[in-house]
Amino acid sequence: MVKSYDVLVAGAGPAGAAAAMVLAGRGLSVALLDRAAHPRPKLCGGLLTAKTLEALARIFGLGEADLSARGGLFHSTPEYIFLHQGRELLRGAAAESFRFVSRPDFDALLVSCAVARGAEHLPGRAVAGCDAGTGLVRLEGGEQCRGRFVIGADGANSVTRRALGIDRVAWRRNLAAAIEVELPNGRGPGLFPRAVRTPELHVGGPSVPGAGYGWVFPGPNGPKVGICGLRREGRHGRDFGAIFLDFLRLLGVPEPEGVALRGHPLPYGNALAEPAQGRLLLAGDAGGFVEPLFGEGIFYALATGAHAASAALCGLRDGEAAAACEYGRLLARTVRPELLWSDRLRWCLFWAMRNIGSGPIRGFVKSAPAALAEMVHGRRSFRLLGRKEWEWGEGVGG
Ligand SMILES: Cc1cc2nc3c(=O)[nH]c(=O)nc-3n(C[C@H](O)[C@H](O)[C@H](O)COP(=O)(O)OP(=O)(O)OC[C@H]3O[C@@H](n4cnc5c(N)ncnc54)[C@H](O)[C@@H]3O)c2cc1C
Repeated sequence: MVKSYDVLVAGAGPAGAAAAMVLAGRGLSVALLDRAAHPRPKLCGGLLTAKTLEALARIFGLGEADLSARGGLFHSTPEYIFLHQGRELLRGAAAESFRFVSRPDFDALLVSCAVARGAEHLPGRAVAGCDAGTGLVRLEGGEQCRGRFVIGADGANSVTRRALGIDRVAWRRNLAAAIEVELPNGRGPGLFPRAVRTPELHVGGPSVPGAGYGWVFPGPNGPKVGICGLRREGRHGRDFGAIFLDFLRLLGVPEPEGVALRGHPLPYGNALAEPAQGRLLLAGDAGGFVEPLFGEGIFYALATGAHAASAALCGLRDGEAAAACEYGRLLARTVRPELLWSDRLRWCLFWAMRNIGSGPIRGFVKSAPAALAEMVHGRRSFRLLGRKEWEWGEGVGG
């Protein structure tokens, strides 16, 4: 027998948990399924901006104290450092803090909130296919279930996305490769030679590919070092792993060849124009909703998960076309302008770095550090620095 739900949420990361949280407790049957059981590993820098804290409060009713107690929050600082080719460009402090969480604990907390609200959690269920027209979801092992609406929140390698028949070549063209490792502090081979309390952003230079950047973040067990870059840009045929090892050398990590590298794709300018079809709505990385300048994805996963849930509420009342229309409307008013304008800014900066040198980027980060921090934290829009007020849809707490 095929079990049926009002809404089936595939993938229990931040996007799926946010969607389930908005929908559960409204008299609806909501299933939140994931191939893994939480806490599960997730490759991520774990940086949360101020707008993410606001979204967590709004959607989940969670505050900083909850994150510290149960959500893996281990560090908070307003400080940041910008580096170009390993040389410090700017050291600053934003008006608000950047928070750092351990993703396994953070994601587990979000899922536990959705379950406490009434969502049925189904761990250990991997989606093998989805029919956008009927809402039928096929699981690995042969089981099937159905949703009057399905929210596809199964990450960058989404299986549910296949049901939309998207242009895979275009999707891959704008996909970044990302590598990240957490290195214990120490002096030996493969160890990170200094403690890191302030997040560092590295741009330019042979070690960090064009249209991409590197980072060194505080981590729960030692600094987290990562790079991401558009696969098609600036690699000059070089292996991405070799580029990463160069970055580790630049940072002073001795004999990095022995470090076990871990990679994951990052949507980097490929937000889908049509993320809804029939009974299926895609949210988070599955829909490509990641900010393409700094690669911030957690906030956009929460926001699009909540928006997809609001749209599903609309669709349960008024039909599939109404759901797609409401999702499109919410995205157009909130997420899309940020993604569009941060993408424009990115190409201006990368073009300038490649063709003019580091001058423009130096000028930009030095002349406008406060504005840059305000854009990242969500106080100002990437769209011409306008004041930013976020808008939420139906069912998202006030
Ligand atoms: C190296 C790296 C560093 C990053 N650092 C940051 C950062 O510091 N700050 C930030 O804001 N963003 C960061 N991001 C981006 C951020 O991690 C993602 O944008 C965010 O996790 C997206 O959330 P999501 O819920 O859409 O997907 P995910 O968090 O990927 O969750 C998807 C869920 O779906 C499940 N799933 C996958 N396939 C299936 C299937 N077939 N069936 C069932 N379940 C499935 C997975 O187990 C997972 O639980 C980083 C990304 C990378 C790669």
